Amino acid sequence: MNSKSLVESKPLPLPLLQVSNLNKHFPVRSSFGRTKGQVKAVNGVSFDIHTGETFGLVGESGCGKSTLGRSILRLVEPTSGEAFYEGTDILGLSKKELRSYRQHMQMVFQDPYTSLDPRKRIGYSIEEPLLIHKKGNKRARMETAMSLLRKVGFSEEHYERFPHEFSGGQRQRLGIAKALALGPKLIICDEPVSALDVSIQSQVINLLEEVQKELGISYLFIAHDLSVVRHIADRIGVMYLGEMVEQGPAEALFADPLHPYTKSLLSAVPIPNPRAKRERVILSGEIPSPLHPPAGCVFHTRCPYVMESCRQVVPQKRFVAPNREVQCHLYDE
Ligand code: SF4
Repeated sequence: MNSKSLVESKPLPLPLLQVSNLNKHFPVRSSFGRTKGQVKAVNGVSFDIHTGETFGLVGESGCGKSTLGRSILRLVEPTSGEAFYEGTDILGLSKKELRSYRQHMQMVFQDPYTSLDPRKRIGYSIEEPLLIHKKGNKRARMETAMSLLRKVGFSEEHYERFPHEFSGGQRQRLGIAKALALGPKLIICDEPVSALDVSIQSQVINLLEEVQKELGISYLFIAHDLSVVRHIADRIGVMYLGEMVEQGPAEALFADPLHPYTKSLLSAVPIPNPRAKRERVILSGEIPSPLHPPAGCVFHTRCPYVMESCRQVVPQKRFVAPNREVQCHLYDE
């Protein structure tokens, strides 16, 4: 049995991260400072991540997936909802508590330059989180950085180099080393391979998988491309205009996508077998503005299966099979 399908059959222990009905709404102000609307970047999103599991989060640019990742770390403050890390209410933490809690959850960014200071040597950049959290002495920090360099495929001589001396894929591996410095249990990977060539993407994904196997880390892996998450995710959530419209085990979601939006995303993924055929679902129109989301189902302006009720009534989340949740009127019965 494939390891990914174990998620369907084994009873899962208590989640490492539980997110429930999380919202992040950005007020939009007029030139006079009055609030004239809200962008619902994240709207009522719920999901769990278990220890050692990878939860893939996919959707088009601007659907709110990166805001969701940042809200969990409170890099942006959520508007409402709940998020628990090992039972601790993340949204209830004071600034001081939050600082210590961030040791357990780290982030890998799309552009590794965001986390690697171009003026600082690589060794310093990897040690920096240890320094900020006052972990170990100078020698211990250096040993940790050397060991992390080896873990991500470099040698100790790279310790003294600067970020510009590395390629994009190498910098991303260094970004992973830095994210590992504090020994986190969860890493939020925000489009970590989107800016890389396909051949380099698989190297970075393989590294993330090796690290997960060795250290039992969990990932929230954010991507706009379903084919990227296919190889790493145990479960997948699909976001559209701030809402999680479908989620389920990766294998089941790829074998039988439920939501019309997931069907369209999947139909764009190339099939390795050239003889196999898949019906292409082409969406019409652009993703609507999150400032003026459509009434009823947020996807109704682009859905090939739209019904009259979809234009007025918001579909409820429904479990259609164990671990498979979808938000669409086609499953109302
Ligand atoms: Fe399409 Fe209606 Fe389902 Fe929305 S609720 S995805 S518009 S069928």
